[in-house]
Amino acid sequence: MSTMTAAVVEEFGKDLNVTDYSVPDPGPGQALVKVIASGVCHTDLHAAHGDWPIKPSPPFVPGHEGVGVVEKLGDGVQNLKVGQMVGNAWLWGACGTCEYCRTGWETLCEQQVNGGYTTDGSFGEYMLVDAAYAAVIPDGADPHEIAPLLCAGVTVYKALKRTEVRPGQWVVISGIGGLGHVAVQYAVAMGMRVIAVDIADDKLALAKRHGAEIALNALGADPAAEIEKQIGGAHGVLVTAVHPSAFGQAISMTRRGGIIVFNGLPPGEFPAPIFDIVLKGLTIRGSIVGTRQDMVEALDFYARGLIRPTFTKRPLSDINAVLDEMEHGKIDGRVVIDYSQ
Ligand code: NAD
Ligand code: ZN
Ligand code: ZN
Repeated sequence: MSTMTAAVVEEFGKDLNVTDYSVPDPGPGQALVKVIASGVCHTDLHAAHGDWPIKPSPPFVPGHEGVGVVEKLGDGVQNLKVGQMVGNAWLWGACGTCEYCRTGWETLCEQQVNGGYTTDGSFGEYMLVDAAYAAVIPDGADPHEIAPLLCAGVTVYKALKRTEVRPGQWVVISGIGGLGHVAVQYAVAMGMRVIAVDIADDKLALAKRHGAEIALNALGADPAAEIEKQIGGAHGVLVTAVHPSAFGQAISMTRRGGIIVFNGLPPGEFPAPIFDIVLKGLTIRGSIVGTRQDMVEALDFYARGLIRPTFTKRPLSDINAVLDEMEHGKIDGRVVIDYSQ
């Protein structure tokens, strides 16, 4: 059995162990991928902390924004070739036959497998993909630059569609981290006008560089009053923030009839004022990653030059420092693990 280096969660809340780990063998319908780059998503931090009600089982390898080259095919794989560039995703695989899968809602499949959560992910030199669900990387893509789009990109692209905000209307992007900074770009590319909200001025400056027209700091001030004053409330709000207070604030940022979409997943709850929701006719919905078709569309925006993630390359050996920086809001855009370092 050959070995590789991987960052392994052995116990929730402890440092990941960067150690020898066996290279997996592709089963039927799977491919073995030599990883070139992997984005680090805040979900990896939730996974390593065991933050959510449904927990992964240590030991496991996080990472669901991995890009690499197919090295070996399992039995029966027809749609991928050795040498081809592919990616893993949070939606690593699904059953393909349940009501959700049949109706275009494979992201809700109860049998789904999650990359870097219920199956090992891209924080290792090799990973497996399910050939039917692997993301196909467009020709000419920079593997490090496109990596953040495999989760952050597809997730916010899908969520922005779910806000039903039309070209020329206003959307608030609350939380300008890995997800939010690409959300600003997708929203602009989709013709929306963007208000960015975060608790750090450097994040707001990043949002402005990516096309936000208005940027508001929510630290110690509810930005809803300013949004009301400047534009009379937003048509839609997308919350990618990692603090529950942003979820409650979203309700008062919205104009009548508005749609609020939640992507962020901090543990916790938020106040939901019944009177405001009913009288303003608001819709509040959750949105989880995107389907394979959403992935194709999200990556096509990149291929057309409309999305340029802000990212910093780091070696896998830095993973614990990177997760610590993420927890303290110190990352600009995304960190992408570079396996050539
Ligand atoms: P990140 O750490 O890169 O960014 C989080 C951002 O939230 C930071 O910019 C931070 O300053 C900001 N923030 C913190 N408190 C805030 C507040 N009160 N108001 C406004 N902004 C605030 O994280 P990320 O990788 O972008 O992930 C964000 C969240 O989305 C995580 O909870 C992650 O698990 C979740 N996520 C969900 C999906 C999905 O499909 N629903 C997919 C990927 C990630
Ligand atoms: Zn299914
Ligand atoms: Zn993610």
